Amino acid sequence: MRKIFIALIAILLTGGACVAQGKKVRSAGRAQQTEKTLDERLKELGYVDIAELNPEVKVSLMYARDDNFTGKVLYDGMSRAWLHADAAKSVDKAQKALSKLKPGYALLIKDAARPMSVQRKMFNSVVGTTGANYVANPAKGGGLHNYGLAVDVTIVDAEGKELDMGTPVDHLGPEANITREDQLVSSGYMTAQARENRRLLRRVMTEAGFMPLRSEWWHFNRVSKAEARQRYKRLDF
Ligand SMILES: [Zn+2]
Repeated sequence: MRKIFIALIAILLTGGACVAQGKKVRSAGRAQQTEKTLDERLKELGYVDIAELNPEVKVSLMYARDDNFTGKVLYDGMSRAWLHADAAKSVDKAQKALSKLKPGYALLIKDAARPMSVQRKMFNSVVGTTGANYVANPAKGGGLHNYGLAVDVTIVDAEGKELDMGTPVDHLGPEANITREDQLVSSGYMTAQARENRRLLRRVMTEAGFMPLRSEWWHFNRVSKAEARQRYKRLDF
């Protein structure tokens, strides 16, 4: 009986030691994970979480999923739409103007600040394809998204449904061009209502201080590239 009792104690002690060792391994694993996520770095640098600044603004980051034009998930550790404060203030202003003109309507942000590591991933995934014409070359300094000064945006109605803009966001082709809208309506490619919807988006965004991009109805820059290079810091991580 005594022998059995001692054996039992021994098993319990050995088992206990194993659990303690397991815990040690796990905590060592945690200690190695010191690298900050993109969300954490952007927050630390003072970039603004748009949805926090104005909860009426909707966010659905297209590069955090694989149903974008690259077919790949490009954002790892980034789940929020971040912008430099100067651009964030303008998005807030644009949302307020939109709410006044069309109660219940909301801006839907599809992409905002894009760190250079993501820009490189995006460029590499389309190099050698037609998509490459639409992605700023990181070797040439990237674009305004890489400063948190550009936004890809559309509008949703009170039910959360995206307005018809003639093409989806990130449509690769001349139909996305803002100078061809009259032609696209008269040729029957898009409806007059879709043209009105694009005009509504441009109106609220430009009145709030953004500049449209000719080739992409959904893309807006807060400043010129020259000004960004002079006055702002690129997201080199
Ligand atoms: Zn864009």
